[in-house]
Amino acid sequence: MSIEVKSFDTLRQASEVLGGSAQYIAGGTLLMRKVNYGDQSFNQLVQSTDPALKQIQSQGDEILIGAGVTMSEIMQHPQLQFLGEVARSVGGPAIRNMATIGGNLFAPRPYGDMATALLALDANLHWASGQQQSLEQFLERSDAARDIVHSISVRQPPTGAFQYLKVSRVKPKGVSLLTVAVLLNRENGRTGNVRIAFGGMAPEPRRAMAAEQALQGASLDESGIQRCLAACTEGMAPADDSLASSWYRNEVAPVYLKRLLLQRS
Ligand SMILES: Cc1cc2nc3c(=O)[nH]c(=O)nc-3n(C[C@H](O)[C@H](O)[C@H](O)COP(=O)(O)OP(=O)(O)OC[C@H]3O[C@@H](n4cnc5c(N)ncnc54)[C@H](O)[C@@H]3O)c2cc1C
Repeated sequence: MSIEVKSFDTLRQASEVLGGSAQYIAGGTLLMRKVNYGDQSFNQLVQSTDPALKQIQSQGDEILIGAGVTMSEIMQHPQLQFLGEVARSVGGPAIRNMATIGGNLFAPRPYGDMATALLALDANLHWASGQQQSLEQFLERSDAARDIVHSISVRQPPTGAFQYLKVSRVKPKGVSLLTVAVLLNRENGRTGNVRIAFGGMAPEPRRAMAAEQALQGASLDESGIQRCLAACTEGMAPADDSLASSWYRNEVAPVYLKRLLLQRS
């Protein structure tokens, strides 16, 4: 079957032809694999040269990142250093040169490492249609209407407040068995606002809300984090796949969360 590729100057034009047998293509690291495997569910690829896809703009402590910005570009950008480690953990150099931050939001398990980090950072999505939505709402609704993410906005975390850990069997560029990302503010020596997100512990990146509540106001030491660790797999549905069993993921999730939390105390 032949595939037709259509290119549009604006994302709005591109989004109008989506649906049915047309798929939007960004870096193509996942979509071209489908093409090569002979996926028959689409016969049109839609792309856009809209410059907004490549913008990186800051307003105060908020940064707007175009959905077409690649992992390599994130690693090199001085204002995106807080995401540098996350971007570096995605695939190898060839993948990072193509893989976009926007495409990562749609990447199925075991992918979506950047999406997990952005969930902990409470990112917002800006769609080509002009609508806005939190990443959390988007991830909760798998039936989301087909549109194109134009950009992602995120608040730059205070130094040291954001931590990320990817666990994989193959280093340095294996896919994740699980990922964990934490955004944690301190107030008078105790934990203030906390967001904890796991990848690999549910079909989509998911917040560990019971663990967040248990950590609120706690001291960041072995005894202070006990309740948080005990609650961190609540509401999760870990994958049971060739990388690891769901039992194993449930066992190790608190271990890695503990490492991440105590690194910082
Ligand atoms: C060898 C290999 C290793 C990989 N390793 C990792 C890894 O370690 N961690 C990881 O997280 N991922 C990994 N990936 C998966 C993938 O490379 C990344 O998730 C990447 O960020 C996907 O982005 P893309 O631009 O290539 O998406 P594409 O392949 O272009 O698109 C993927 C899907 O997202 C949709 N899409 C893309 N952009 C948008 C947008 N702006 N708005 C709406 N829909 C959109 C497309 O329509 C398509 O359905 C790997 C892939 C490969 C092939």
